[in-house]
Amino acid sequence: MLYDTDRIRALVDVRQLARRYWGEPAFERPLYAMYHCFVHVDRRASLSVRQDGYRCFGCGATGDAIKLLMLLSYSAERPEVAFCKACAELSDKLVGLSELTVPPPLAAWSGPPGADFQVALQTLSELAQRALFARGGQQALHWLCVTRGLNESVVRQAGLGWIDRLASAQYWQRVLTELGLRLAVSEGILLPWHSAGQWWGIKVRRPQAAHSLRYTQVTATDERRSEAFRPRLQGALYGVDDWQGERPRLLVEGELNCLSVRQVAADWLDVASIGSASAQLSDSWATRLSGASFWFDADSAGQAAAVRLAGQFTVTRLIGSTADANERLLDGSLRSFLQDAL
Ligand SMILES: [Zn+2]
Repeated sequence: MLYDTDRIRALVDVRQLARRYWGEPAFERPLYAMYHCFVHVDRRASLSVRQDGYRCFGCGATGDAIKLLMLLSYSAERPEVAFCKACAELSDKLVGLSELTVPPPLAAWSGPPGADFQVALQTLSELAQRALFARGGQQALHWLCVTRGLNESVVRQAGLGWIDRLASAQYWQRVLTELGLRLAVSEGILLPWHSAGQWWGIKVRRPQAAHSLRYTQVTATDERRSEAFRPRLQGALYGVDDWQGERPRLLVEGELNCLSVRQVAADWLDVASIGSASAQLSDSWATRLSGASFWFDADSAGQAAAVRLAGQFTVTRLIGSTADANERLLDGSLRSFLQDAL
């Protein structure tokens, strides 16, 4: 018996098969669902299942609907028998399904750089988020919650993650390779930059470096197009997606400053971060920043940024303080300081 394997691959949604065997995914997005891998011991949910197949970022396992069914239902059979049984079962499901019901092609790993990049960064960010809350991320989580004083709910809402590259370099290297991204990522806290509904990039911050803030801004290269494209953090505003409007607005320097302020003042204040004192903001932010207050670090770079941006936008006030938002969060004075200052 011959089976139309192309038709099976085009019409069967592997995500439905995965759901049948494993139930609800660890998390799900429009184009893929993530599960704990069935091939290796997997604490992170590294198995990405898409309409047309599955791929594990941990062990490299990959396959289509037929292979998955062979492994899960017919592994006791000889391979050629398992193949025929899997094809027969999947073909039965497709009886009566017209070719016209072929779903529109999904953005593939090799699709346009924009869409690819969105999916890749989202996947990378979600895997890092899971790693932060897994056993290997305990130290990083401790640094965020105890050393920096952030609540776990703020950390979760911000989607912070942990890249434990030193502990499992191969894992992250495989993730990046499979996502088609050639990235320079070091071990550290992953800060996702999501602004105005788009991924702009990620930053990785090494938690050990209290004073020399060594941020790694991700640079991605799409090898298939032999054309470099960079996530342009410059010009984005960190945290602006959470603005509710009609409230006092505050612009701060660093992302963690932004999260500190959000933690104590989210009930009455909208806060965003420019990421670094050297950031350039496009004039398109004028409407949202008009009338905002700026609070940058007391060092010379922060003060230069305050003067520069106050010249570009209509600022209501510049807040000065030798203690920054993180320090005030830790000593308990942040909320009352903001209430007095604004
Ligand atoms: Zn695996």
